Amino acid sequence: MSSSNDIILSIAVPAPLRQLFDYLPPEGVDPDTLQPGMRIQVQFGPRKMLGIIEAIKDQSDCPPDKLRHAIGILEPEPLLPVSIMKLCRWTAGYYHYSLGETLSLALPQALRQGKPASAGSITLWKSECDLDESLRKQLKSAKRQLQALELIQTSSQGMSEVELKEAGISKVILTNLAKKHLISRHELEIHDEPFDSITPLLKETPFTLNPEQQFALEGILETPSFHPVLLEGVTGSGKTEVYLQAITATLQAGKQALVLVPEIGLTPQTIERFRKRFRVPVVCIHSGLGDGERLQSWLAASRASAGILIATRSGVFTPMPRLGLIIIDEEHDGSYKQQDTLRYNARDLAIYRAKMADCPVVLGSATPSLESLQNARTGRYSHIQMKSRAGGAKAPTVELLDIRQQVLTDGFAQPILERIQRTLHQGHQVMVFLNRRGYAPSLICHDCGDIIDCPHCDAHMTLHRQPPHMHCHHCDYQTAVPWSCPTCQSKKLQPAGQGTERSEQVLSQLFPDYPVLRVDRDSTRRKDALPALLDQINEGKPCILLGTQMLAKGHHFPGVTLVAIINADGGLFSSDFRGLEKTGQLIMQVAGRSGRGQMPGHVIIQTHNPQHPALQMLSMNDYTRFANSLFTERQHLHLPPCGYLAVFRTESAYTQDGQALLQQLRHLVLEHFGGAASLTPLGPLPAIMEKRQGRFRQQLLLQSGERAPLHRALKYLVDYLDRLKLPKHLRWTLDVDPQEM
Ligand code: ADP
Ligand code: ZN
Ligand code: ZN
Repeated sequence: MSSSNDIILSIAVPAPLRQLFDYLPPEGVDPDTLQPGMRIQVQFGPRKMLGIIEAIKDQSDCPPDKLRHAIGILEPEPLLPVSIMKLCRWTAGYYHYSLGETLSLALPQALRQGKPASAGSITLWKSECDLDESLRKQLKSAKRQLQALELIQTSSQGMSEVELKEAGISKVILTNLAKKHLISRHELEIHDEPFDSITPLLKETPFTLNPEQQFALEGILETPSFHPVLLEGVTGSGKTEVYLQAITATLQAGKQALVLVPEIGLTPQTIERFRKRFRVPVVCIHSGLGDGERLQSWLAASRASAGILIATRSGVFTPMPRLGLIIIDEEHDGSYKQQDTLRYNARDLAIYRAKMADCPVVLGSATPSLESLQNARTGRYSHIQMKSRAGGAKAPTVELLDIRQQVLTDGFAQPILERIQRTLHQGHQVMVFLNRRGYAPSLICHDCGDIIDCPHCDAHMTLHRQPPHMHCHHCDYQTAVPWSCPTCQSKKLQPAGQGTERSEQVLSQLFPDYPVLRVDRDSTRRKDALPALLDQINEGKPCILLGTQMLAKGHHFPGVTLVAIINADGGLFSSDFRGLEKTGQLIMQVAGRSGRGQMPGHVIIQTHNPQHPALQMLSMNDYTRFANSLFTERQHLHLPPCGYLAVFRTESAYTQDGQALLQQLRHLVLEHFGGAASLTPLGPLPAIMEKRQGRFRQQLLLQSGERAPLHRALKYLVDYLDRLKLPKHLRWTLDVDPQEM
C-alpha cells in the first residue's frame, strides 16, 4: 500500500446534503502539502465540482474500491484560514445548513467559480492638469467632471477606479475627462504591502471628543481582548467619530478593523468619511461592486494589505489575519439577517468571530434591538449611552398629529401642509417619509368594490404611473393597467391610498416653487440617480425630499429641519411580533434625520392613533421606555429575546402537501421531545401571505425557553427530513432565529 492511501481527504462540496465526502489525494500531488481550507476540484456524481478540504484523516467509512482521487488543488496554500473554517463550521451547525454550501457562500463569487486567487492589476486615474480658475470655469456646466477632477487631485499617486466609483463617479465621466486629456489611465500591478508600512496613519486631524464620546472610546479600548460593547447613541451623537478613533488605536497597534454596515447604509458619504480620515487602504465589499472588484477587496483584507474593511452582511466571512476590532453599525437593522438560502445573522456571527479573534466588538445604534439590550441587561455586553448630539445640534421635537375627522388633501392633513410651506419659506428643507412606493397601493372598482390582485400572490397589485403599469411588489409580476373591472366591467377604477409617486405629484402641485426630490427604489434604479439626488439635496437649497426608508438610514442632511411621517399607523398593528419594534426603530431613525445642522428640528407624525402608548413614548424621544414596554410583552409570551424560535417553512404547488409534512414534524416533536415542556410546536399555519409566486406557503413554529433543547430537536428533524424522498414541487426550509414571521 502506498503512503498516499493512508491519507483521506474529507471534502465539503456545495451541495444541499449535510455531509462531507471522502476522496483520495489528487494523483501527482505530495499529500503532505495538503491542508484544510484549500480549494480542490472533485468529480461529484456526473459533475466536476469545487470543494474545500475540511479535514485530513487516515481512515474512511467508504469502502476502498469506492474511493476516488480528487482531481486537483487550486492553490498551494489554504485559501480559507483556520479561523474562517471554524466560523463556517459553527455557522453550518447553528443554522443546520450544509457546510459545503456555507463555505461556498463565504467565498467571493469569483473564487467560488474557480478563478485564481490573485489580485491582478488595478486601474488608476491620475491628474494631468492644473485645476486653476480658468479650468474650473470651463467645467462649470460639467459638475460631475469637476468633482471627479477635484477628487483625483487630492492624491499624487492617482486614484483607483473603484474608489472613484464608490465616491459616485462613473466610468463615463472619467472617459470624458480623459478625452480632454485632463486625466490619464494607468494599470498598476497590485503589491501586497502590509497596511502598516504606510505612514503616517491619518490624513486629517480628528475631532476632540466630547466627554460622552471619550467615555465610549475608553470603554471600547479598555482591553484589546474580547468584550462586546453596546453603544447606544442617539442619531448625531457622534458614534461614527468614536468608531473612527477606536479604529485609529487598533491600526496603531498593528491590527485590522472590520466595519459591518446595513445594506442600505453603505453610502458614498460613509465610505468617503473613512477614506478622508485614513491613509491606510480602506476596502469595501458590497453589492454595488463587480466580481473582480470584490475579489480584490477580499484579497486585500485577507493579506492584510488593507487595514480597514467596510462591508455589508457577507463581509463577516472575509479572512482578516490581524483582526483587532469589529464594529457593527446600526446593529438593529434587519438586513444583517439573510432571508434566503443560509439564513444567518451577520451580527451574531460577528460576535462569535470577535470571540475567536479575542478582540473588542462594538454594536452601535440609536435604537438597539431587544436582543442586544437583553445581552446588556444580563451583563454579557457592556452598555454605553450617548444621549446628546455632538457638534451642538439639539434633539428634534416630536408632535403627534391626530388626523381622525380631519379632511386630508391627498393624504396630507392641513397643519402639515402649512408647516411645510412655512419651513420652505424660511429657506429650509423638508423630508416627507412614506413607506410605499408606486402611485397607489391598490386599484379599486368604485362600482363593485373589487381590488385588482396579483394572480400569483395573496396581495394587491400596486398602481404605478411612471410608466403606467400594475406591479406586484412581492413577486415582481407586472401587467398593463386594466381599462375596466375584471369582475363587473365597470370603467370606474380608482386608485386607493398613497404611494410616493402620487405624493410627488401632489406636493409638486401644492408647492410649485420648490423642487420635490423623490428617493425610492424606482427613482434610483439608474446607477447614478442616487448620487445626483444626494448632490442636489446637499446643495442645501429649500426643497422637499420625499421617500421611503431609503431616506431614513445613514444619510446626513444638515438642511432638513422638518420631517413629516405620513403613515405610521400600518406598523402599529402588525401581525409580526417584531412589527412594533421595527416601526419604532424606523420612526426614531427618520426623526433623527431632522435638525442635524445648526437649526433645531421638528417631526410631525400623522396618525389615527395618537393615544397609542408606543407613539406616546416615541414622541417623547424615550426609546428606553418604549423598549422596556416591548420587553414586558415578550416576557409574557416567551418570545425572543425572552425565548428562542425556529420556523420550518414549506412551499408547494398544493396546500395540503406542505401542511402534511409539517404535521409530521409536529408529531415527531411531541413524540420525542414532548417531555421537555419548554419546547412547543405552533402550527402548521398558513404563512401571512399564504400564496406567493404561485406557491402555497405553510409554517411550523418551534418555541422554547432554552436554546439547547430547541437545537437538539432541530437536528433530529433536519436529519429526518434529509432521509425523506419528497416530491419535486414540495420544498422546505428552516429559519433559526427568524426575523420575519
Ligand atoms: P452618528 O454616527 O452618531 O449619527 P456622527 O459621528 O455622524 O454621529 O456625528 C454627527 C455630526 O457631529 C457629524 O457632522 C460629525 O462631524 C459631528 N461631530 C462628531 N463628533 C464631534 C465632536 N467631538 N466635535 C464636533 N463635532 C463632532
Ligand atoms: Zn367592479
Ligand atoms: Zn405577486
